[in-house]
Amino acid sequence: MSNSPKFIFVTGGVMSGLGKGIVTSSIAKLLQVCGLRVSCVKIDPYLNFDAGTMNPLTHGEVFVTDDGGECDMDIGNYERFLNTSLSSRHNLTAGRIFSNVLKLEREGKYLGQCVQIIPHITDAIKYELRNISRNEKLDVLVVECGGTVGDIESLPFLEALRQIELEDGSSNTCFVHVTLAPVLDAVGEQKTKPTQHSVQELRRIGIQPNILAVRCKTPLTKETIRKISLFASIPTDCVMSSHDAASIYSVPEMLFKQGIVNVISRNLDLKAKPKITKWNKIANSFLDTNGIVKIAIVGKYVDLKDSYVSVVQALLHAGAKFGKEIIIEWIDSERFEIKSQNDSEKESGKLIADQLKQFSGILVPGGFGSRGSEGIINTCQAARSNNIPFLGICFGFQLAIVEFARNVCEIKSASSTELDPETKNPVVLYMPEQLDIKVLGGTMRLGLHDIFLKPDSNAFQIYGRKKIQKRHRHRYEFNQDYLDLLEKRGMKFTGSSDDGRRIEVLEIPTHRFYFAIQFHGEFQSRPGLPEPAFESFVKACIT
Ligand code: GLN
Repeated sequence: MSNSPKFIFVTGGVMSGLGKGIVTSSIAKLLQVCGLRVSCVKIDPYLNFDAGTMNPLTHGEVFVTDDGGECDMDIGNYERFLNTSLSSRHNLTAGRIFSNVLKLEREGKYLGQCVQIIPHITDAIKYELRNISRNEKLDVLVVECGGTVGDIESLPFLEALRQIELEDGSSNTCFVHVTLAPVLDAVGEQKTKPTQHSVQELRRIGIQPNILAVRCKTPLTKETIRKISLFASIPTDCVMSSHDAASIYSVPEMLFKQGIVNVISRNLDLKAKPKITKWNKIANSFLDTNGIVKIAIVGKYVDLKDSYVSVVQALLHAGAKFGKEIIIEWIDSERFEIKSQNDSEKESGKLIADQLKQFSGILVPGGFGSRGSEGIINTCQAARSNNIPFLGICFGFQLAIVEFARNVCEIKSASSTELDPETKNPVVLYMPEQLDIKVLGGTMRLGLHDIFLKPDSNAFQIYGRKKIQKRHRHRYEFNQDYLDLLEKRGMKFTGSSDDGRRIEVLEIPTHRFYFAIQFHGEFQSRPGLPEPAFESFVKACIT
């Protein structure tokens, strides 16, 4: 039993959006700075195989891992806090577990048995978690269970976690439950009832939490802690206040100060001494800023900020490096579409430019489909012709090409076949490998690919080397039949992959900063180590 892997299980109560992912990442970070080998897993109890086919507006960003997994956005938090790259196995969905079990059933592996949630599904869950811990030789695996306790979908997962405690012993498992203490009235009393009920719900399924992390606006009062401790039956030093923080990167220190490392060490029988100074220096760089930089993000999924979390974080990482606070203005690209014949193109162009000129920089992130795309093309034009620093990512890269072809190379009908399948001038088109693909899940060009940069380019200056490795998620690409024409007019293509078959980087050298990438640099940006394209973009916005 003593050789069993050690697990911390993070569950959520009351409602979603309490920062469970940040608590999970912070706990993992604190153990990492103790010198332990730590990693995180996100359980998503939904039936989708992965997050790839989900709408970012309801579910948040699809985070892409090195191995091409289309994952829940919490994987991005883990990577950023731990400064590591995780494989797609670290996102465990009910869809994947069920399909594994059903495949085995068809193969006859359970011959003669009635295949059930307990033990077959729960065994498959336990197997996955233990396997990750064993393969990566981890001291501690922190497992976050998505959803809220009481959801039907999460029951098999919580049952599996309960069984791990039973089988491996309580010195190998520690349950952290994240809840909420709302304040409703003017008196400002922190209400404990939602936490009480949520702990009861957890106990009903056989789990007694060891630690509570209670989300609240202001620090939990002594009285609130005492009350929660009594009703939840856990010692007062195990009730952590998870109050609003100026930066997510300050949460490890917040929990550390309340003694969470000691409590976890006590529970898991660990000898842990954190060396947190280096991390705190990075965390503090997000707070010690002088001056602001206003950046407009013009995109399709701007109604839910979580749709572009990694882009936002990458900008913040870059801002912190230069001691600047980044203020983001979200603009729905549909606002920049020319709606009727009465809107003369010239006037609309001027109006758009007038609105965008107030920003130090413009960023166009990824996106899919035609809605709002003309507004993005107009945005690219405004940034280009007004010399406003511009960073385009994936869809932003592709539409910057369409804009340049239309307005500089005077190919009026230029488009992407994603927007107009019949276009006479497909400057962006379906990648040939994609043509035979019939199913949509997991079939884009995904994950890490080598990219080679041209020596005398801004790209080379930015990355400081010839070869880089970046993550991808796309089906369309630049049509190189138009390369010579566009280059003649001043757009340079300075990075390529797959032996030159795919163009990955564009720039306009005569512009202050006009840079676009087919890959998603944002997924590899880290606090203290901003991704170079974002760093250079923010630098250009400041100077
Ligand atoms: N829709 C484009 C493509 O599939 C861009 C994708 C993206 O921005 N991630 O190629």
